[in-house]
Amino acid sequence: MNKKLFIPGPVDVSEDVLLKLSEPVIGHRTKEFGELLISTINKLKRLMFTENNVFISTSSSTGLMEAAIRNCVKEKCLNIANGAFGERWHEITLINGKKADLLKIDWGLGVKPKIVEEKLSSNEYDAVTLVHNETSTGVTNPIYEIAKIIKKYPNVCFLVDTVSSLGGIKIEVDKLGIDVCLAGVQKALAVPPGLAVCSVSEKALEKSKTINNKGYYFNFQIFLKYLEKNQTPTTPSISLLKALNYQLEKILNEEGLENRFKRHETLGEITREWAKKNFELFAEEKYASNTLTCIKNTKNINLNELETKLYEKGYIFSNGYGKIKDLTFRIAHMGDLKIEELKRYLETINKILGF
Ligand code: PLP
Repeated sequence: MNKKLFIPGPVDVSEDVLLKLSEPVIGHRTKEFGELLISTINKLKRLMFTENNVFISTSSSTGLMEAAIRNCVKEKCLNIANGAFGERWHEITLINGKKADLLKIDWGLGVKPKIVEEKLSSNEYDAVTLVHNETSTGVTNPIYEIAKIIKKYPNVCFLVDTVSSLGGIKIEVDKLGIDVCLAGVQKALAVPPGLAVCSVSEKALEKSKTINNKGYYFNFQIFLKYLEKNQTPTTPSISLLKALNYQLEKILNEEGLENRFKRHETLGEITREWAKKNFELFAEEKYASNTLTCIKNTKNINLNELETKLYEKGYIFSNGYGKIKDLTFRIAHMGDLKIEELKRYLETINKILGF
């Protein structure tokens, strides 16, 4: 029996999307491929509310986090972190030989714009990284307020990880002035893992021209050169691209973006109500995410036992992440998940725990 995934990525993929993976493979230097690539990119632009260039990378999202750093950090980067993935971005920045400061905020809290303003006022940074939706804590950072601060510093490149929000929470790239907005396809977009996408502003592209040692695989200039020929620099995961294009078509024209965001809001509300009734939210409630909920295990229940029992009932459960691994558990509610499916999952947990 297939197990239903309630982990924060990868998530369940609809059968019709999976079927796209079994279509014949086409050559990546053909006209047909070029049409597929451009059609997918045009849909991503609608999803991201942007007119910037969009690149599709055959890698996981971490590859594009590295790309953003290698192409857009010249002087010094400010890595804002209120969770594990923000901290990972700092590690990536340093490992790539760039100067960086870590603005560390307690896990579970949202990033307050004031502290970003204080840091930027030193004028020592030419790039800022932010994780929009911290998958480790279930916090969605107030990106509209933070973006207002960053706009006051036109030389700063704003690099945003929307890995667990794109496709579930509205992100208006152009309005927000995001220079690089990146995500994977295996979370709120509900496509099998293996592709990552990013929008790149003119400012980021111009800057990347002035930066040495960008490498080859994640070099925005090389991505752009090939995109001008409707191609990708290297052999992409063609089958996944077909699945992504098909899924985006469904998202945009079958469900509709606003309906999709609304469904995620409802999923978030239902999960938070359940969590507050039975446990406590880990995230500051004001910033609690609509794609996943991180829950404090205030009743000290045996999470391994719960995981085993849920497995027997056909579900894959998620515990916490990183340093809060054993103190919390997470319920993902993103992708194509239906309200009834979430309710059934919560009822199953209620039965197991005797609530
Ligand atoms: N950023 C966030 C917010 C994530 O949730 C994840 C993965 O869970 C990543 C980055 C890394 O993504 P990947 O494993 O696709 O490289």
